[in-house]
Amino acid sequence: MRVLIPNLGSTSLKYQLLETQNEEVLARGKIDRIGGSESQLTAWDASTRLESRTVAQVPDHRAAIKILTEHLAGLGTGSRAGGIEAIGFKAVHAGPRYCGSFLVDDALVAAMQDFVPVAPVHNPIYIQAMQIFREILPRIPMVAVFETGFHATMPERAYTYGVPPEWREKHGVRRYGFHGSSHRYIAQRVPELLHRSAEGLQLVSCHLGGSSSLTAIHNGKSVDTSFGFSPQSGLEQSSRSGDLDPFAVLRVMEKENLTPTKVRELLCKQSGLLGISGLSNDVRDLEKGMKVGNARAALALNVFVYEVKKCIGAYAAAMGGLDAVAFAGGIGENSWLVRKQVCEGLEFLGIHLDIEANSAVGHGDRIISQASSRTAVLIVYTNEELMVARETVKVLT
Ligand code: ADP
Repeated sequence: MRVLIPNLGSTSLKYQLLETQNEEVLARGKIDRIGGSESQLTAWDASTRLESRTVAQVPDHRAAIKILTEHLAGLGTGSRAGGIEAIGFKAVHAGPRYCGSFLVDDALVAAMQDFVPVAPVHNPIYIQAMQIFREILPRIPMVAVFETGFHATMPERAYTYGVPPEWREKHGVRRYGFHGSSHRYIAQRVPELLHRSAEGLQLVSCHLGGSSSLTAIHNGKSVDTSFGFSPQSGLEQSSRSGDLDPFAVLRVMEKENLTPTKVRELLCKQSGLLGISGLSNDVRDLEKGMKVGNARAALALNVFVYEVKKCIGAYAAAMGGLDAVAFAGGIGENSWLVRKQVCEGLEFLGIHLDIEANSAVGHGDRIISQASSRTAVLIVYTNEELMVARETVKVLT
């Protein structure tokens, strides 16, 4: 089955078209600077190879989706890449009824809409995209693969918050966890790389990127994760707050007379690494800042590394042991410094990083711990699209 997987950002539309029978990528690319004055379509496909061209103004996502579907239809005549048979969305949050993968229908979209205030950065753009694809390609089935799905195996003790019962029952207040497609991929990939079965494997998966989360994976299943009720929780995110005491929010709201809308915006756009550093939400900038003596950039990195380290320890305790730690995501794959600092001091958990392997410029999934390290440390180039495509096929067949 040919599955299109659109990946929507606020100003970009990335995509992959996958043939799921042999899991071949038929086409991929992106349209960037949506809303700007000059957009670029960068596209690759198995037949015509690379193409990059400026496209006329792309004022919004509707225009971008139209350009994408026309581009793929054009390929359909001369290449294998056309002919979309299904669309799979890496959807984020629709509450307790939708922790898994489901056919997109009105009830699902309504549930996502209900959770817009909880996932304000992610839900609106996906709801809009589902509606546009439905208009442009009305006969193509669409599947939402929720990021919460992989965490549906967490035990009750890991997902229950100490709040009044009606908060849990009426409002679905609990830990959900996100980045499910990435953690699912890592859960499957690490046993392959270690040439062993997932059975019995105690793994901590660290997806560190624009947003970051850790998951404790035992026997291939999520047993705990750092994201909670919303994608603003857990570790410090690029510009989202991460965990903090709810009474701090209430105090600032009351003292500053802030509305829920304003406080939501501050917690989503002015917090996290950006909030601490006052410099940037990008770890590359923070690393540069730290090198030239910017104390706040150094503090932001320190806080981030400390939280990751603490979480690895907590999950080793939760699982009763640790066999492997895997790094993925833009930071996890690229920052040797973050990986090194996270692993420093974790020798008591059997973690012994190979300093050279960690800092060598390399490509592809690899082990970066010493051969004698009791706990393996790995870099995994995560493949969320593949997980979404597989889930899409499962739902449709
Ligand atoms: P998203 O979560 O938006 O998909 P990514 O997983 O691609 O994003 O991660 C993007 C982040 O990765 C950037 O914000 C940046 O902080 C970090 N990053 C990318 N490349 C590097 C690098 N070479 N060194 C350090 N951090 C990097």
